[in-house]
Amino acid sequence: MSASTASIPCQHLRVAESDVGEVALCPDCGVVSVVLAFMTLRIPLAEFGVFQGMLSRAQSRISALPTAYGNEARADALTGPESHLH
Ligand SMILES: [Zn+2]
Repeated sequence: MSASTASIPCQHLRVAESDVGEVALCPDCGVVSVVLAFMTLRIPLAEFGVFQGMLSRAQSRISALPTAYGNEARADALTGPESHLH
């Protein structure tokens, strides 16, 4: 109910990018957008650190699995085996 910027387009600041997507911050909204090939996650800035920590724990556990779910499978799982961006 307190929004006063309805007519002002958001200015997204790209803060990181990689082969699988990019991360953009909207300082006005306080939202971090994680943009992947076919989906975008919008996460409140206050929760982004928690989100990042969750991903780090997931990667740690995946890497610790005895089978080959580690580095090789990561990129392919996100983009498909034949859709590399570079
Ligand atoms: Zn915004």
